[in-house]
Amino acid sequence: MHTDSSPINDVVILGGGSAGWMTAAALAKVFENKALKVRLIESQAVGTVSVGEATIPQISRFNKLLGLDENDFVKHTKGTFKLGIEFANWRQKGHAYMHPFGSYGTNMDAIQFHHYWLKMFQLGKAPELDKFSLLCTAAYSGKFNRPQPIKNSPLADIPYAFHFDATLYAEYLRKFAEARGVTRIEGKVQDVFTRNSNGFVDALLLENGERIHADLFIDCSGFRALLIEKTLNTGYEDWGHWLPCDRAVAMPCEAKNKVYPYTISTAQDAGWTWRIPLQHRIGNGYVYPSEFVSDDEAVDVLKQQMENTPLAEPNQLRWKTGRREKAWHKNVVAIGLSAGFIEPLESTGLHLIQSGISRLMAFFPNQGFNQIDIDEFNAQSKLEMEQIRDFIILHYKLTDREDTEFWRYCKHMDVPQGVTDKLNLYASNGRIFRKDNELFDETSWLAVMHGQGLQPQAYHPIVDNLPESEISRRLAHIQKVIETSVATMPMQADFIDKHCKATMM
Ligand SMILES: Cc1cc2nc3c(=O)[nH]c(=O)nc-3n(C[C@H](O)[C@H](O)[C@H](O)COP(=O)(O)OP(=O)(O)OC[C@H]3O[C@@H](n4cnc5c(N)ncnc54)[C@H](O)[C@@H]3O)c2cc1C
Repeated sequence: MHTDSSPINDVVILGGGSAGWMTAAALAKVFENKALKVRLIESQAVGTVSVGEATIPQISRFNKLLGLDENDFVKHTKGTFKLGIEFANWRQKGHAYMHPFGSYGTNMDAIQFHHYWLKMFQLGKAPELDKFSLLCTAAYSGKFNRPQPIKNSPLADIPYAFHFDATLYAEYLRKFAEARGVTRIEGKVQDVFTRNSNGFVDALLLENGERIHADLFIDCSGFRALLIEKTLNTGYEDWGHWLPCDRAVAMPCEAKNKVYPYTISTAQDAGWTWRIPLQHRIGNGYVYPSEFVSDDEAVDVLKQQMENTPLAEPNQLRWKTGRREKAWHKNVVAIGLSAGFIEPLESTGLHLIQSGISRLMAFFPNQGFNQIDIDEFNAQSKLEMEQIRDFIILHYKLTDREDTEFWRYCKHMDVPQGVTDKLNLYASNGRIFRKDNELFDETSWLAVMHGQGLQPQAYHPIVDNLPESEISRRLAHIQKVIETSVATMPMQADFIDKHCKATMM
């Protein structure tokens, strides 16, 4: 065991995609003015995946850590705002629902709002759940505003995220990191040397013959996983039987339809397509299972459904769904696609990078590389990915669709116990609980379980203490407050024009 408590002086990040530059920016900020040398190696010849354009609200924490000016950030990444995701054709063809970032209604007598709503909805005396969400109502009206300091108003609580151009995002963070002392090295890593004594990575050999040594290596080399897997053979847990989509094709186009503040995910005969609206273009992609759809068919499906002519050639991507057995092994920490990948249905890729970075900060090592810390880092990473995996599986499992072989497979597949437990609990009495600080909370599980058509047999018994007329009155009041609040919000297009309009070339 290593007991060396001297500090890490030298970090090398391999890879300059979103993972590499997010890590570089965070290290530069946290270790600003400290004696930590941070270098990032990337190869233009290898390139980046250049997708990853929709986010979740937690990204604001990352922006705050860096101290970014949000308007400047949106402007330079040609971004827009995101209040949720609409899922079309998932439950059945022709049906759509929204998974919003914010909660529904307001809790009453310490009982979750949805129990009251469930009772009235099942009696046919309440409208759809969407009507009790400020974010759904705003999103469908094309409205956006940041939270306003108004007491007792739903306008005070508007969790939001961003859509942005992935290439511009990496460039933006690169400038940030370089301005704070990170050195970028252009070059392709050709070989990796390990130490005979303990198998730790010692140096990376570039094509030009240069050897780069470091104390700590962050593997941000994407699906290639050059250090954590190709060098250290860490192992991979395959989740493809639960999430069979293993390919995507992405192609941008100019906007023809309205640019509203939400992502659209449309289920196809197998897999699904995304529409991510930016200021200068629409990001489109089709995530599909290679077992059911060929690459050529996927390009055809995407082109047929795009609202305008493509602006670029198809960008084809392949992966194996799952996670690296150990995100941290010896002196290599994998962040980004090298640590594993779950399809982008709920835009969790950049979030996993962000949480990998904050976990690295929490467990930042010294030269001793304490194995107890490393084990805990890996245990936390595993739990986080499994919880996200379960939420994504929910969307496939809970469907009325049986019109294609793909959907029949999904509907009837065995799922992890965590999904079954959540489904059973909700189905029997409408109860939902967030477990172990998981990323997706009660609102998210409710949005998807209800949206995908699960009707509980009962609701919380305390609801019956309130007369129906009183519940109806309260629901009508909440709906009214939401409508009047949304009416005061600006259109997203006007908000962007005023605060963060990108310069178009
Ligand atoms: C289809 C798809 C859609 C997605 N959509 C979303 C989304 O909407 N929201 C979201 O949050 N996430 C999304 N993601 C995830 C997100 O794109 C990634 O998490 C993010 O881009 C990070 O990628 P990366 O930096 O790990 O890898 P990459 O972008 O692949 O970067 C790898 C880097 O390693 C370098 N490299 C590799 N080998 C070498 C070598 N030998 N020498 C030198 N350099 C090397 C490359 O040059 C590159 O700079 C999506 C992913 C996919 C596949």
